[in-house]
Amino acid sequence: MDKPKLIKLSDGNAIPQLGLGVWQADNHQVVNAIHHALDTGYRLFDTAAIYHNEEGVGKALKQTTVPRDELFITTKLWNNDQTHARGAVLESLQRLKLDYIDLYLMHWPVPSRELYIEAWKQMIILQKEGLVKSIGVCNFKEEHLERIITETGVTPVINQIEIHPLMQQAPLRAWNTTHNIVTESWSPLAQGGKGVFNQQIIQRLAEKYHKTPAQIVLRWHLDSGLVVIPKSVTPSRIEENFHIFDFKLEKEEVAEITMLDQKKRLGPDPDIFVDI
Ligand code: NDP
Repeated sequence: MDKPKLIKLSDGNAIPQLGLGVWQADNHQVVNAIHHALDTGYRLFDTAAIYHNEEGVGKALKQTTVPRDELFITTKLWNNDQTHARGAVLESLQRLKLDYIDLYLMHWPVPSRELYIEAWKQMIILQKEGLVKSIGVCNFKEEHLERIITETGVTPVINQIEIHPLMQQAPLRAWNTTHNIVTESWSPLAQGGKGVFNQQIIQRLAEKYHKTPAQIVLRWHLDSGLVVIPKSVTPSRIEENFHIFDFKLEKEEVAEITMLDQKKRLGPDPDIFVDI
């Protein structure tokens, strides 16, 4: 198999298991990165209103000959737009030059503001209107998920959370699975491999499979059933991160990497993150 498999979502849609993240890429970088990624075989692209690069993503997508229905575009509702999701999605669509978004994610719950349930209700309407095909969340803990599901009856199809070998979030992933929510890993390479690529087990497996540490880590995500969106604007790395479909880790090897968990976040704790 030379391309990511499609993971079925609870609403009937499907997402490629591997895509390109574009946080911290500017509009110019993102155009080149997406062209290179499309040529490599990527079809899933993960942006957000707050990344300020939706225009670049839209520009690259406008130029490609890859049919729209083969692409899977994710963008996100920023925290200060939780009271007006409709306006926010219309602006994202305009910047992305798209008629619809494949996956619209609430970026953070911001529990202290108590607006995420209202925002989720608005996102449910956006999906009914067809402006977005699927709706999900990022950075939601069990109690946040529990509340939106109980109060609206609609379960997010995806919860995108920080996951890499040093921060594995096993209990939350299990909760997601129990509720038919797909888990998607952000910062899957621990933002360039910090403290991960030099681990003995990663080095040993890289040698065994003739792969790079990044490829071993990404394979660990796939073999753990996660959707993964490594970011790169470097052509050789964009290719490297995609060329992981010609090998698979043994069960015991997945388990050995799982032992590296330190429950160590690189990003903020969703309970206290209020940046707006
Ligand atoms: P990643 O773990 O994907 O790491 C990206 C960094 O690793 C970049 O500096 C990149 O450099 C470098 N890199 C990429 N490939 C390789 C490689 N093969 N070998 C060595 N270094 C490599 O971090 P991100 O934080 O960007 O996470 C990925 C995506 O997740 C984001 O882009 C975004 O789409 C999403 N995200 C979502 C969040 C949320 O709250 N929902 C929060 C954070 C991220 P270079 O580009 O120079 O090649």
